[in-house]
Amino acid sequence: MTALGSAARPEPQSFERVLSSMCTEPHPAAREAATHFLATNPGDPDTYPAVAALEREVVSMLGDVVDHQDPTGYVATGGTEANIQAVRAARNLAATDDPNVVGPESLHFSFQKAADVLDVDLRLAPVDEDYRADVDAIADRIDDDTVLVVGIAGTTEYGRVDPIPALSDVARDADARFHVDAAWGGFALPFTDEQWNFAHADIDTMTIDPHKLGQAAIPAGGFIATDERTLDALAVDTPYLESTGQATLTGTRSGAGVASAHAALSAQWPDGYRENYETGMNLATWFAEEMRVRGYDVVSPHHPIVAVDIPTGDFEALTEAGWRLARTSAGELRVVMMPHVTRDSLAGFLADVDDLASSGEER
Ligand SMILES: *Cc1c(COP(=O)(O)O)cnc(C)c1O
Repeated sequence: MTALGSAARPEPQSFERVLSSMCTEPHPAAREAATHFLATNPGDPDTYPAVAALEREVVSMLGDVVDHQDPTGYVATGGTEANIQAVRAARNLAATDDPNVVGPESLHFSFQKAADVLDVDLRLAPVDEDYRADVDAIADRIDDDTVLVVGIAGTTEYGRVDPIPALSDVARDADARFHVDAAWGGFALPFTDEQWNFAHADIDTMTIDPHKLGQAAIPAGGFIATDERTLDALAVDTPYLESTGQATLTGTRSGAGVASAHAALSAQWPDGYRENYETGMNLATWFAEEMRVRGYDVVSPHHPIVAVDIPTGDFEALTEAGWRLARTSAGELRVVMMPHVTRDSLAGFLADVDDLASSGEER
């Protein structure tokens, strides 16, 4: 029998042993909405006005999450697109022909893509001993050709929040734009006392991903800007569409992301997300302590991400046992307490860690 004729329906992997991903199972309402709007194209809002109206609502709802009264922006394919667009807007609005972008070395790799595609120089500054951007080191790398300074609100590896207000000041002093990457952290930080959003600092653009902690279906990223000037700097004319201009990086894009972000935000903001944050933070604190008492070095979680220094052999054995794990660039095991990660699944993981230790003793 050929593959085409095969009766078996392909199945996606289960989330049960996925510990390092920043994606998760969509909220049930988000899954339903994604299917319902699958065949719409918000890339052509005049032809698909229903999804276009939903998208405007999503931007306004994201404004509530990031504390901006009157945000503009759109639902991107993810944090990567939103970060590229932040760099692109800054480059297009600046006068220099030799632009550079300055940020901490903890920046997500999407900025490497942005620098490559847009032909801007990416200048990375070392972080401090707690993995946060060092403001003086950032300031040292800024010059007259700096078009954008980037701070991270929830780093991908350690969940750290850079000193956003101070970075914003440094950017302003240099007449550069300021972007905050809250792709992962955006749906966690509203429930903390971190200084990270539009009410805390002078911010031009922000990335916040509904398809991570926002529990929307992929692809749903958020690109948020303070003024229309940013979108104007990104827009191109669009002949052969009913709509006359387009500021997104993609052309045709699925309305599934837009509709699912709308459904997830409607269902979960703010109480559902707060509950996720509190559950995730409790798990992170507990899991960090469980690994510590087993003798491992743990990077203390500020938010629901735990990094643990474990030997390569252990990492490989746990991967072999079916755990889906990733490492930080320094080599630590990284566990992200997404909504699908439970105390039961982590207890199963710890049991496997204990088996490693006892089989090690027998050897
Ligand atoms: C995940 C992440 C990104 C990239 O987002 P995608 O949705 O995977 O494109 C960018 N920045 C940070 C801080 C992230 O955690």
